Amino acid sequence: MKKGLITLAAVTFLATACTTAPESKVKVYGWQGEGENTTEQTLQADFSKWKSHGLDGMCYNAGHDLQKIQRAAKVAHENGLEYHAWIPAMLQGGMDSTLYAVNRNGERANKVQAYVPYYTCLCPNQEGTVEFLTNLYGKVADIHEVDYVHLDYIRYVDVILAKGLWEKYGLVMNEEYPTADYCYCDKCVADFKTATGIDIKSVEDPSQCKEWAQFRCDLITSLVNHIADAIHAKGKKISAAVFPGPDSYARWMVRQEWNKWNIDAFFPMNYNDFYLEDAAWVGKVTEEEVKAVNGEKPVFSGLFICHDWKNKANIKDPEGHGLIPSEMEEAVRGSMEAGAAGVALFTPGNLTDEHWEAFDKAIHQTYTKK
Ligand SMILES: [Zn+2]
Repeated sequence: MKKGLITLAAVTFLATACTTAPESKVKVYGWQGEGENTTEQTLQADFSKWKSHGLDGMCYNAGHDLQKIQRAAKVAHENGLEYHAWIPAMLQGGMDSTLYAVNRNGERANKVQAYVPYYTCLCPNQEGTVEFLTNLYGKVADIHEVDYVHLDYIRYVDVILAKGLWEKYGLVMNEEYPTADYCYCDKCVADFKTATGIDIKSVEDPSQCKEWAQFRCDLITSLVNHIADAIHAKGKKISAAVFPGPDSYARWMVRQEWNKWNIDAFFPMNYNDFYLEDAAWVGKVTEEEVKAVNGEKPVFSGLFICHDWKNKANIKDPEGHGLIPSEMEEAVRGSMEAGAAGVALFTPGNLTDEHWEAFDKAIHQTYTKK
């Protein structure tokens, strides 16, 4: 009788062990851009390596080239990776000049740019811009192997630059400067006047005009939702890389009120070094992000990786900074305990062996939302 009980207990224990301990792993994405020498073979090697390191999906930028997107998406699927076709939205070259945004000085972005020459930004309020982007993402969504289209630079130029970047660009940006403040094209000025009665060109300090900030947030929201409707109509999904917040950064820096966007997944770029913050900040800002979408949409916390981490102290450019191996656990834990659906690496190609080792431990833990 006693023996029988022990056997029963042992069986029960085994059964419990099998059903309650499935392998738990944090969901992981990676952002990666295509290089000049990329081939199907290099894609295969990269994607299979990243899959083995725990990645579940790729946000991959192969430009506007539909064949290259299809090639990468196919290799992703062969490796069991979800494919998000990552394409920058508002920065475009070679468009009709009337589609480019106009800064507060009256300069068009195809002629004069803020910060860097590639900041040739479009006006989100032009019919031609909406059509061009909807068509571009629509064609990409038509590719069979593409699971999501992934919006990036879906925003205004940074009217305030992240603090960590001030020195790099020789700026102190504690106010909105006219050269980085968009868009003052005739249509934007006229539409804002119609909507609010305010002539923004006669306002002495437009940065103090709350309606003007809101008007531009709404234009981005409306553009995103227009694209999202088109993608959803094709039976595909849509995700986006966004600034952190949105209230603490994204809204006032780049006019992203992204909690109002009808998209399927958010990838906030929680790049702590850009904001002169430590790894603990990643969890704090993720908490705000999860709350902003009421926990109803997945938030994947974007982590910026420092490749040359042993030399980090000597690197001047903050875009060479990022998380070092010993910070990986805190960034992942903070994100997950804040309710993130997972994390996203910028970029998997930048992780060193030491990063992967720390990351592997961090993603194979069970986290509970605090
Ligand atoms: Zn405009």
